[in-house]
Amino acid sequence: MSFFKRGGSPFIIAGPCSAESREQVLATAEAVSAMNVQLFRAGIWKPRTRPGSFEGLGAEALPWLQEVKAKYLLPVAIEVAEPEHVELALKHGIDVLWIGARTTVNPFQVQHIADALKGVEIPVMVKNPVNPDVDLWLGAIERIEHAGIKEIAAIHRGFSTYNAASPYRNQPNWPIPIELKRRRPELPIICDPSHISGKRALVGDIAQKAMDMGFDGLIIETHPDPDHAMSDAAQQVTPAALKQILDGLVLRNINSGNADSDVTLEYLRQLMDGIDAEIIDLIARRMELSERMGLVKKEANMTAYQPERWREIVDTRGTRAEKLNLSREFILSIYEKIHDESIRKQLEILQSVINEVKG
Ligand code: PEP
Ligand code: MN
Repeated sequence: MSFFKRGGSPFIIAGPCSAESREQVLATAEAVSAMNVQLFRAGIWKPRTRPGSFEGLGAEALPWLQEVKAKYLLPVAIEVAEPEHVELALKHGIDVLWIGARTTVNPFQVQHIADALKGVEIPVMVKNPVNPDVDLWLGAIERIEHAGIKEIAAIHRGFSTYNAASPYRNQPNWPIPIELKRRRPELPIICDPSHISGKRALVGDIAQKAMDMGFDGLIIETHPDPDHAMSDAAQQVTPAALKQILDGLVLRNINSGNADSDVTLEYLRQLMDGIDAEIIDLIARRMELSERMGLVKKEANMTAYQPERWREIVDTRGTRAEKLNLSREFILSIYEKIHDESIRKQLEILQSVINEVKG
C-alpha cells in the first residue's frame, strides 16, 4: 500500500496556505488533528504572482512544523522550489514535500529539485503545471521517479485561464487528470479544490466531484481566520468548515473490481462530453444558416419546404452515414428532426413577412 493510499478512505491533507505565525500553525494543527486528516500542509516559501505579496516566512517557520509533528503526531508537508528548500526541509524532519504548479512548468527547476532528492527517501507530491499539459506534468513526475523517489502522488490544482467569466480561479479541465490516471493508473492522485475554486463556497462541491471521479485524496487549505489570511484568503476554510466538508463527503467505490475498465470508462465519458458540446455548437451554427436561408426565401417569395433539397439531404447524409458504418435510418431520423426544426424557424420568418405586410 502506498503512503498516499490508505485502503479505501481518502487521504486528507489540511493546513494553511502559508505558515504565518507559530500560534496560527499550532491552532490549525490542533483543530485538524482531531479530524480524519493524515497530513498537515503549510507553505513557507510562497510563489506569488506579483512581487510585494506575502512570500512566506521561510526557514523561520520550520521549527513550528516540527512542533506540530511532535505535539499532534501529524506528519507535515511543505512546498519546495529550490534544492536549498529540500536541504532545509530534510534537516528539519519534514515528512512530505510538494512541488508547486509554477515549478512543475519548468523542467530545469524540477531537475534541480530531483537532483537534490537523489538518495533520499521521502514522499513527494507533484502539482500539475499551470498550463493544461499532461506530458509536462508526467515529465516532472518522471524526473522525481528517476531520482529514486518511490512514494509519489500527483496533485490536481486546476489550470490557468483567461476566461474572466469562469467560476473557477483555475479551470479543473477534468479530462487532464483523468488522462494522467489512464496513463498511470497506479499513481495516487489528490485533488486541490482550494486552488481550483479560489473561493471557499465551491470547495465542498469540487471535493465531492473528485470523490465521484475516484481521486485518492484531497488537499484543502484551512486557516483559523481565513478572511485575514496573508495569502489565498478567499479560498481558505475554517477547521469547522473543513469538518463539515469531510463529514458530508459521499465516498464512492473507486471501482467495480476492475480498476482498468473504470478508468478507461471515465476517460471515454469525458471525451464524449467534449464531442456532445461540439455537436450542440454545430447544430446551433446550422440553425443560424437555416435562418439566413429563410430570409433569402422571404425575399424571393419561395416556399420554406423544398422537396428537391430534402431529397438531396436524405441521399447525401444517408450515404455518408453508411460509409462510416452508421445505420442510414438512425442518421436520417436525426436529420428529420433537424430539418423539421429548420423548416419551423423558416416558416416563422416567412410568417413575419405576412405580418409586416399586414401591419
Ligand atoms: C499552494 O499550495 O499554496 C500553492 C502555492 O499552490 P499552487 O502551486 O497550486 O499554486
Ligand atoms: Mn495557496
